[in-house]
Amino acid sequence: MSLLTDKWDEILLSVKDEYDIADISFKTWLKPLQIFSEEGNNLYILFPSGEADQISLNYISKKYSLFLKEAISLYVGVDYDLHFILPKDANALKPETVQVTQPAPSHKHMKSNLNIKYTFDTFVVGNSNKFAHTAALAVAESPGESYNPLYIYGGPGLGKTHLMHSIGNFILSEHPDMNVLYVTSEEFTNEVIESIRSTNNSSSMTKFREKYRSVDVLMIDDIQFIIGKESTQEEFFHTFNALHSSGKQIILTSDKPPKDMEILEERIRSRFEWGLMADIGFPDYETRMAILRRKVESEKIELKDEILNYIAENIKSNIREIEGALNKLIAYSNLEKTEITMEIAEKELQNIISPDKPKEITPQLIIEVVSEHYQISIDQMVSKSRSNSIARPRQIAMYLCKTMTDTGLQAIGSLLGGRDHSTIIHGANKIEEEYKTDKELQMQIDAIKKKINPN
Ligand code: ADP
Ligand code: MG
Repeated sequence: MSLLTDKWDEILLSVKDEYDIADISFKTWLKPLQIFSEEGNNLYILFPSGEADQISLNYISKKYSLFLKEAISLYVGVDYDLHFILPKDANALKPETVQVTQPAPSHKHMKSNLNIKYTFDTFVVGNSNKFAHTAALAVAESPGESYNPLYIYGGPGLGKTHLMHSIGNFILSEHPDMNVLYVTSEEFTNEVIESIRSTNNSSSMTKFREKYRSVDVLMIDDIQFIIGKESTQEEFFHTFNALHSSGKQIILTSDKPPKDMEILEERIRSRFEWGLMADIGFPDYETRMAILRRKVESEKIELKDEILNYIAENIKSNIREIEGALNKLIAYSNLEKTEITMEIAEKELQNIISPDKPKEITPQLIIEVVSEHYQISIDQMVSKSRSNSIARPRQIAMYLCKTMTDTGLQAIGSLLGGRDHSTIIHGANKIEEEYKTDKELQMQIDAIKKKINPN
């Protein structure tokens, strides 16, 4: 216990660092916390607020409890159950016999799926995203009231997902009791399919509808993927109407504006345009540098401006790639325990930055791009999994490797998890056949090809 008290400030700071918690949040929620008492495995932590501040308490317990628990366990080696209490609880109880009843967790709450790293605080604003940022903040401040739906669109790696999570995190920090739900459109689609396929069809459909219609804020990322999926579109349409008519906020992202989603049903397209549409463009040089500087600062590493400049000058159209380049150098410097020179940077980044020669098209590159496009990991790609959401991207990779490179079938097979050449032929042929008639597949494959070979 005394060890814990001694280390307390350090523990709090480690949580701040580890989870990249903003100064303002740290000051508000974590810094005031004090150890009150310990009873067996129960640790009582006091939040000394002025008023009876149950909301803050619920919020702290919801948002920071796990982080604190882990940090405490790391520092003092005990896995405590944490209980957060207010002065009014503490006064009523002697420290030795604390019997605080945790505020009952509100069961109304569902998992929001939000990534706490993506917040407005960590989002760098520049000309290319200023409008989208303002719109997102407005929606975050008054969900369901100002712009509904908010539709954010732009190319890959430009910050759509980051902004979307920022809205969700902001809303939850202001209104911890709101039901905020983030899903990718793949997840949404899979849930629709599951509830249709399920043996107890009607009850699982009811569950699905209850889930999606009980939210206060629904965010669906990369909505372009519902194109061509009829029952998903149908379900989306009804969900949209139900939420919109009861004033619940809907936020969508897409890689293109509604008018370019050609084969989307008209009734859905028109709804996308009801609220506010905000696009994110390519970041200008200043924004690219600002993003790099911010990241370098938050990772507490030293990199000369010359190096940052080299990255900013050469990667222009994708912030994910900018971060990827930086991460590569950070990893190198950690591993080799050496300072990054321009020479090292040029060599390490030659696969990412190739000012003159176009990227070499290899099966590895194709597998990476296809995995990213369908948001599955490379491990899943090469795994034994036959689930459609993985097997299909895998077949698409087979098709692209076969048609875009000279690599032999056997080599492709071994790169794709040790499959034999007949499996590769079968997969590639299947996609080739479908490509002839399936408009949705044509669009996906064309988009992937562009990413593989932008020229
Ligand atoms: P998208 O969803 O548009 O493909 P993401 O939101 O996933 O892009 O962004 C890709 C990466 O770039 C993420 O790590 C994100 O944090 C980062 N990023 C994008 N825009 C910004 C920005 N304006 N400021 C800081 N980081 C950004
Ligand atoms: Mg995204």
